[in-house]
Amino acid sequence: MQFNTYTAAGAHLAVWLVNHPAPGAGDLTAVLRSHDVHQPAASSDDALVLRPWAARLREVFEAGTVTAKAELADALLAAADCRPTLVSHGDGQPFHFHYAPVRAGLAPRVRALTAAGLAHVIDDGGGARLRACDRAGCDVAFLDTSRNGRRHFCSVRCANQVNVANHRLRQRARRTAG
Ligand SMILES: [Zn+2]
Ligand SMILES: [Zn+2]
Repeated sequence: MQFNTYTAAGAHLAVWLVNHPAPGAGDLTAVLRSHDVHQPAASSDDALVLRPWAARLREVFEAGTVTAKAELADALLAAADCRPTLVSHGDGQPFHFHYAPVRAGLAPRVRALTAAGLAHVIDDGGGARLRACDRAGCDVAFLDTSRNGRRHFCSVRCANQVNVANHRLRQRARRTAG
């Protein structure tokens, strides 16, 4: 699975928005710039209007089946008015997709790019890789880029906490049994 295209950047951006549902304009701008989004300067208004969008993106990560994820992502493509267009920025410059025209404004472009990013992961057969952490009480979303796609926790820390808890449960069960 390839995760190095601009489209994949849309999926990574979606992960970031879900995990930072109320970002400041500066942080949002920095993340957009790091993913090579055109004209990434975000205003605090942009950050504000993207909050409900982050909540909708989260639903895709939390949905229990790939079918449910696909239906939600499909609805996001429509809601974002995502219209892939091949654009080159001058003679000999490479063509690439724009998912909304640059003139549409920053928030609509972020909506279209993140919807396309999630849809692309699902189209690539990676729907099950759009996940939320399995530790109860942790609501971090992630894109599982591991080779076997069986990562269940957002971090080593969450994995360790669950392993320790399970270990204690087993010890207690053994004592009760003995
Ligand atoms: Zn471009
Ligand atoms: Zn976690």
